[in-house]
Order: sequence, then structure tokens, then C-alpha cells
Amino acid sequence: MNKKTIRDVDWNGKRALVRVDFNVPLDANGNITDDTRIRAALPTIRYLLEHGASVVLMSHLGRPKKKVVESMRLRPAAERLFELLPEAQEVKKTEVTTGPAAEAAASALKPGQVLLLENTRFDPREEANDQEMAQELAKLGDVYVNDAFGSAHRAHASTEGVARYLPAVAGFLMEAELSALFGALSDPQRPFITIIGGAKISDKIGVIENLLSKVNALMIGGGMANTFLLARGCNLGDSLVETESVDTARSLIDKAHAANVNLMLPTDAVIADAFKADAQQKVVPANEVPSGWRILDIGPETVKTFSNTIKEAKTIIWNGPMGVFEMEPFAKGTFAIAQAMAEAAAKGAMTIIGGGDSVSAVEQSGLADKMGHISTGGGASLELLEGQELPGVAALNDK
Ligand code: ADP
Ligand code: MG
Repeated sequence: MNKKTIRDVDWNGKRALVRVDFNVPLDANGNITDDTRIRAALPTIRYLLEHGASVVLMSHLGRPKKKVVESMRLRPAAERLFELLPEAQEVKKTEVTTGPAAEAAASALKPGQVLLLENTRFDPREEANDQEMAQELAKLGDVYVNDAFGSAHRAHASTEGVARYLPAVAGFLMEAELSALFGALSDPQRPFITIIGGAKISDKIGVIENLLSKVNALMIGGGMANTFLLARGCNLGDSLVETESVDTARSLIDKAHAANVNLMLPTDAVIADAFKADAQQKVVPANEVPSGWRILDIGPETVKTFSNTIKEAKTIIWNGPMGVFEMEPFAKGTFAIAQAMAEAAAKGAMTIIGGGDSVSAVEQSGLADKMGHISTGGGASLELLEGQELPGVAALNDK
């Protein structure tokens, strides 16, 4: 990674202005139902405190549509952070994001203390990447730290604009994300393979195109495999297909062939006579789906072929479930791929999982802690896999 990190700064007596991702789910009473994202920021915050800094945190929460929404205040996040970080004698919280009250609170901080600003998206200028807001934010710290990988694909005032006015470095979470993903993409141990799934081919065309020039094998499952199967002339019954993308699928198949990439499609499928968990189901060859039936998971033969390839690989990136894993009868293919990846990881392969639904599937499988890297940023990791530059990363200082 060629970006400076918090290790490259002398923090003694400095005030760190840190963009974190505290976009946590809240229940109707405002209680945090999952604090994973707050925990993920702790290593960076601890490091800064231990090295003599005071810390000003900023984050968005939800989609308040450019105005103050009481239920989207960050107070619960500040309280949870203090529970998780008792060594910060106090976690202060302002009701504003910038301006005189925020400046007074920030400049009153002593080394070892933490302040959380209010939801950045309450300010209409945040998502417009307004430079006045960016300058107001920059007044609140001496050095900017971006640890919100999940927002790095957005050029907002708190993720990109502010970095123009302060020295700007990556936090540990950002660094871990970038080194895992860039490492795999730029200098992978081979065989390097990717598994792409999910509902729609149209969401992932950019990812497939970028990866085709890099990988040794590309496995395709999930609903999006259907469009490839259709391009090959299979009968798919009532399966989800994107007829407008058949030509794209065909050209990706040709490109893979020309690049000598082994493009692997499902050879069998679990089909159901309705889109529901208690539908009738059976396993058929992937080209023989009767009308009235639809593919909801990859079949056992496909699981075996994919798993064997995965277990031989040294670098594996997975994005997109193999089936409708939200329904238990159609989760087997997805969980089997997770299992194969865990086995590959145990043999020393680098295993990376990106994508919101893929990550929750891996968490459900109970194998998350066996994986090399689980990306916290759905959209951001997809854009990286597409080969795009993330504005929040580009804005950080080079080494
Ligand atoms: P990610 O969030 O990991 O990038 P996607 O959002 O692209 O993944 O895709 C996940 C969704 O794809 C899941 O909701 C899953 O139910 C759906 N899906 C997977 N296979 C099928 C299928 N055969 N038919 C319909 N939907 C599917
Ligand atoms: Mg998704």
C-alpha cells in the first residue's frame, strides 16, 4: 500500500480528526443491535490515544436526507464506544457537526480524550462535498485519519474534501482493507481464482471484466449464472434471467476464452416450483429446468467442482452468494463454498470475501473467523474489484 498510515505520524499532543463508520443498525428504541462497526474502529482509536493524541470522531448514520433527524443522532454510538473503550476517561458528544460549538469542544480536548461529532449527513453540504464544510471540519483537528473504508467510494466532505486541508492518512481498518484487496489484485499468489454470484449479472459486469484479465479461473453461481447459461442455450424454466444482458454474458464468455481463463458455470442446480422456503425442490442438470420451476441454488455436482478448484487455489476472492441463502433449503451451495474457502485458508491460501450479502452469509455459516479477510465495505469493495479508484483513498497522502 502506497498511502501513509497512522504509523507515519508523530501523534504526541496532536488532535486526530478521524472519519469512522459508526453507521450501526438501531432498533425502534434507539438501541444498537450490532456494534461490529464500532468495534472495528477501536484499534485505530486506541493507537491514537496510546500515542499521545486526542481524538475527534465523525461518522454518518443512516440516510437523514440532509436534515436533523432525532432518531439518527450518534449519541447511542458515543455511549457504546465509551463502554468498549473505558480507557478514554470520557467520550464527549456534540449535537453539531461543525461550527463554533464543535470547535470549542474539540479545542478543549486533552490528550487521551475522545469527542464524537454529530451525524455528518445532517448537514446538506456533506454529500455535496462542499468545500466550506470540509474547511470547517479541518479546523477540528491537526491530522485527518480515514478509517471508514465502507464510505471511501463516496466523495463527501468528511471522506474526501477534508483531506485537501490537512495531512491525511489511513487508519488500521482502511489499511487492512486496502492491503488485502490491492495485494490480491496486484500481486496474487497463483492459482488466483474468483467466485462471483448474487442475483444480477448487471450489478457485477464491471467486476467480472476487471477480474478476467487477472485470474486463472472464474466461477459463476447465484442468479446471475442463469444469464450465462441462457447465453449457452440452456432451458431455464422460470428462473431469474436478464434477457437484456445475454449479449454481455456471451461476450464475457468469449473474453474469458481469449484470455485463457477457465470460466466455470454451474452444471446442475437446485430448482423449486415456487420462490419460497417450503416449495417442492429437486436437483436437475443446469440445462434442464422445466417450466414452472426456477433455479434457487447451485447443485451438488457444481459444489464439488467449485470446491475442488477452490481448495487448489492460493488466492481466492468471493463476491455474491451461490443461491437464495436467506431460505434455509437453498443455502447449501453458499455454505459449501464458505467451507471450501475455510479449508483453502487453513492450507495457507489468501481468502477474501466482499459484498454485503456474501459477508452476512459467511457470518451465518459460522466460518467467518477462518477467512483471511472479510471486507466491511460492500459498495467500496465492489468498486475496488472493478478497478476503480476510490476518492476517499486517492485523497490520502502518498508514502
Ligand atoms: P452481495 O451483497 O454479496 O454483493 P448480491 O447483492 O449481488 O450479493 O446478491 C445477493 C442476493 O442474490 C441474495 O439476496 C440472494 O438471495 C440472491 N440470489 C442468489 N442466487 C439467486 C437465484 N438463483 N435466484 C434469485 N436470487 C438469487
Ligand atoms: Mg447485496
